[in-house]
Amino acid sequence: MLQIDTISKAFAGTPAVREVSFTVERGELVCLLGPSGCGKSTLLRVISGLTDADSGSIRIEGADMTRAAANRRPTAMVFQSHALWSHMTVAQNVGFGLRVRGLPKAEIAEKVGAVLDLVGLSSYGKRLPAELSGGQAQRVALARCLVVEPKVLLMDEPFSALDAHLRKSLREELKSLQRRLDLTTIFVTHDQEEAMELADRIVVMQAGRLEQFAAPGSLYRNPQTLGVAQFIGAMNTCTTAVAQGQANWYGTPLRLALPDGEAALLCRPEDLFQDPQGARARVTRVIDLGPVTKVSLMTADGDLLTWTCPREAAPDVDAEITLMPRRLHAFRDGALLSLIERPEPALREGALA
Ligand code: ATP
Repeated sequence: MLQIDTISKAFAGTPAVREVSFTVERGELVCLLGPSGCGKSTLLRVISGLTDADSGSIRIEGADMTRAAANRRPTAMVFQSHALWSHMTVAQNVGFGLRVRGLPKAEIAEKVGAVLDLVGLSSYGKRLPAELSGGQAQRVALARCLVVEPKVLLMDEPFSALDAHLRKSLREELKSLQRRLDLTTIFVTHDQEEAMELADRIVVMQAGRLEQFAAPGSLYRNPQTLGVAQFIGAMNTCTTAVAQGQANWYGTPLRLALPDGEAALLCRPEDLFQDPQGARARVTRVIDLGPVTKVSLMTADGDLLTWTCPREAAPDVDAEITLMPRRLHAFRDGALLSLIERPEPALREGALA
């Protein structure tokens, strides 16, 4: 449905988007996720035609849209602030795009009624934007896009101005609507949880580059770059030298089949377990989060560790415990070296004596 091919965009010589390529299938919801300033909105604006790309191409259903004006593209965009016209009623706001296209009045009324029904606002047509809650206003903004039947719906942090509870419920509404309409959607967010819950696949961006494009669970379990590993979910990061298949993990020697050199060894908080041969650390804080307990620890060298465990396994504050990793993601120069399951302790010096 949508092909983004080596898109680049710079502002006054500073790159905002660097050679980004990916393909979106029909009916797929793809999130662009990354920290503030990584180029997500710029890429979305390039797709919509509001911003011109410096190089690369954009195709929608095979048709080259790279140089097409925004109003010639089969896309519609929902912005962070709904930008409804304050002097027009909800129905007039929603029908605006159809009026400029010259559709007959009766057809406009029918289509507007149908989309207001879709977003659960069928009895709100006569209200003015000032008479709506934030969530309702964003639904109207969505209806205004849906009514023109875009091939690709573009959404730029549409829920970020709303409170957490409302965000969650609108997210679920959007997901079910998007599925029902089989609507190809690109959704920009810097909120990892939002992206993980909404997306079929996520484009993780950093400093203008596409770091990884994969399904949410796959990004979590198999991050391909150090940037993705550290951005998606929590990780304990230990940077260490590897020599002759041996590395020092928070003071504990591990046998790791890695080439010699420096490596970053990353471990998820839930991938730690208590083991007498593990790294020694002191418990500094225990937080009962309900489903799991989060334990903060400090090693003798002052490194911080986070462990999540069932409540009944949680140690007391100030306890000294020893932890081993169940799996480690090893990176060098930002790229994945290896995913190591069940790393084994190496013999400590003098252990044989
Ligand atoms: P946020 O989540 O904060 O909106 P983002 O990931 O969407 O961030 P962009 O808004 O795409 O990031 O910005 C990417 C880079 O391009 C930033 O460094 C930004 O300052 C710069 N930038 C964006 N738009 C313009 C512009 N019109 N003129 C100059 N620089 C711009």
